[in-house]
Amino acid sequence: MLTSICGINWGDEGKGRMVDLLSQEFDIVCRYQGGNNAGHTVINERGKFILNLLPSGILREEVVNVLGNGMVVDIKHLTQEMARLREQGIRITPENLKISDKAVITMPYHVQLDCLEEERLADKKFGSTRRGIAPVYADKYMKKAFRMGELLNTKLMYARIKDIVEWKNLTIVGGYGAKPVTVEEMIDYFKTYGEPLKEYICDVGLYLNEANKAGKKIMFEAQLGALRDIDFGIYPYTSSSPTIAAYAPIGAGVPNLKLDRSIGIMKAYSTCVGEGPFTAEYFGEKAEKLRAAGGEYGAATGRPRRVGPFDVVASRYGIRCQGADEIALTKLDVLSGHEELEICTAYELNGKIIHEFPFTDVLDECKPVFEKVKGWNCDISKCRKPSDLPKEALDYIRYLEKACECKIRYVSVGAEREAYIKMY
Ligand code: GDP
Ligand code: MG
Repeated sequence: MLTSICGINWGDEGKGRMVDLLSQEFDIVCRYQGGNNAGHTVINERGKFILNLLPSGILREEVVNVLGNGMVVDIKHLTQEMARLREQGIRITPENLKISDKAVITMPYHVQLDCLEEERLADKKFGSTRRGIAPVYADKYMKKAFRMGELLNTKLMYARIKDIVEWKNLTIVGGYGAKPVTVEEMIDYFKTYGEPLKEYICDVGLYLNEANKAGKKIMFEAQLGALRDIDFGIYPYTSSSPTIAAYAPIGAGVPNLKLDRSIGIMKAYSTCVGEGPFTAEYFGEKAEKLRAAGGEYGAATGRPRRVGPFDVVASRYGIRCQGADEIALTKLDVLSGHEELEICTAYELNGKIIHEFPFTDVLDECKPVFEKVKGWNCDISKCRKPSDLPKEALDYIRYLEKACECKIRYVSVGAEREAYIKMY
């Protein structure tokens, strides 16, 4: 059985937290896109963990974790992340971690180029996480990247380095006037950070197909959300890979298999890290209050997240992109303590009301249309079943369900593993 867990919004919906909870029903968890620009915060009985490259299933002893071919892997960052988790008592061996031989390696020069370009853009910057993600995906499609499987046969790999270095320096030195990359430092880098990962590298597609035949349950864990998808998101303020569920089997290494279930992770209000149009955005005191209540600071970068009320227009579009069969609604507890809550139910564009999510350029001209619903004044973080919730919180859930035309199956009311409600 194949299930995807994807973000409906702009990312940071709490995917890591939901994967950590739901992975108890799964044998394998795969990441299938993106790199260490992801930041998943997971809190469970073993502690608090921040995951950038490793799937959230790594926190469960019996789950096998896969980094798929759709990913870009910063091998230095991965080595450090593995070391940090081991210090926190997590076991990581080739038995429970498998890295696709077809995943692309993020190099230090990708990170350097990411920073150089953001600095060049100055106030026109994209709000990149500066982890080299756009430059490394660009090289993948230029067919000038290195892949994890090459670490298994470094003779061929090392023979390619000279050409790549020559080509990269055209941009680094010629374009940006920065210090050139050298063949020696690249070989050094592969030796230091690539060699120790060799035992984890394999054909994960073969492994996943065998596992599927044996009846194992496989979960695909996305990074970011639908609105950051390279095709369907708010381009160019998107990530550089597909964040949608339909790409999961491809990016994980099993293009021959079909998803059985798509679970969308949707936040009870809106947050957005970085630049780009964000129609329902709050500013000033209203924003400060919501940001503080939700602790909305990036897990990967520490940046304050932009915040706003729930956006029906964007979320309905996100649900469509993800083909979500059901929703896990997160962070409902953050909305406690308000007489009234606003919901963005439509956009106003040149005096007309629109309900469908428009093309990115048009978004800049859209103004949010807010509706008010009743809030609740009590703490709901201890609620564990629907009947524990105040009527207004239940009404809020039902409102979103109806407006978004998708069933809400789980509602999370706290960051801890058990702080959730199963609605049906
Ligand atoms: P991800 O990138 O989608 O995995 O989400 P992040 O980890 O970046 O952001 C979600 C944040 O909200 C994390 O700090 C979580 O610990 C926290 N969180 C997740 N679910 C809940 C919830 O239901 N209530 C509260 N208060 N915090 C939550
Ligand atoms: Mg995050």
